[in-house]
Amino acid sequence: MPKLLYGLQETQDVEDFENDPEANEKSCQKNPGHASFHLVNEFTMNHLPEKYKNENFHECILQLAKLVIKLSVGKVSPERPKEWPVTQQPYPYYGCQRKLRMGTARVEQVIQHLDGKRVCECQKCKTSACPKKLWGEIEVYTAAHVIFDQTEADDTTWTLFDDAIKLSAGLVIDTCDVRKDLCKMKFITCDTGLVNQLADIMAEYIRLWDIVYSTWKSTWDEDKVAVIVSHPHGGFKKISVGQWRELEERDDLKGKRFSYTTSTCPGSSGAYVFIPGYNTGSWYTGFDQLIHSGTDGQINFSAFGIFLDSK
Ligand SMILES: [Zn+2]
Ligand SMILES: [Zn+2]
Repeated sequence: MPKLLYGLQETQDVEDFENDPEANEKSCQKNPGHASFHLVNEFTMNHLPEKYKNENFHECILQLAKLVIKLSVGKVSPERPKEWPVTQQPYPYYGCQRKLRMGTARVEQVIQHLDGKRVCECQKCKTSACPKKLWGEIEVYTAAHVIFDQTEADDTTWTLFDDAIKLSAGLVIDTCDVRKDLCKMKFITCDTGLVNQLADIMAEYIRLWDIVYSTWKSTWDEDKVAVIVSHPHGGFKKISVGQWRELEERDDLKGKRFSYTTSTCPGSSGAYVFIPGYNTGSWYTGFDQLIHSGTDGQINFSAFGIFLDSK
């Protein structure tokens, strides 16, 4: 099989949002039995490679899991291209008006506005005589083939903390790059309970990430560990552990991508790929543009993110 520039997408198509993940799992051709996926509350250090059986790493993955979002998207934008850029590979859902599908995203950053200098910019506050002074911006990453533009973002339901928090729409596209297969969105809210909760999780994740990074920064490219937390088949979030294979750079796309054996299934599109010891290169943990994009059936690929090599 010739090497695909873009993988086959791993969104989970569903008939309706009363999706039956168990039925989808049972008919799964890619990972029958799903033994390599672990429910978050069943994930232990025994699931980690010997050298990585480390409390900080285990806890870091659990914190990351709390930042993972399940997406359900209905509309298909008329702006979708027929083919992936510079290829003749068909672009997902081109020509459809509506196709219910599920994917994964993650909270990448939480910005808290606590000083009252700027008032809340949520839809409600924009038209209110007394907009809230305490508010936040939650930045979210997924793959562009999951949510292509604002039309699709407006028809998205997203679920945090497995099914504990369900939000309809409210996601605003910040940037969406079809060539890189990356979509960055913002959720602006004065629900300070949610903002503070996510900010606390993010702070703990970053604290642990720093320790994990220091521990393996000199051996990340020998050990080649890659962890993914996603919503396979649109069900509960699950953790899979594997290895990355290649780091590929494309000058024309001004991006890099990893390939990996870490298990993914339909529903995993848009999930974050965590490589311990690797720095994606920004002011804290990186832009974290290492987002699962697709598969050729044997090996899985990330999107073409921008990140710096850590050595
Ligand atoms: Zn599967
Ligand atoms: Zn508001």
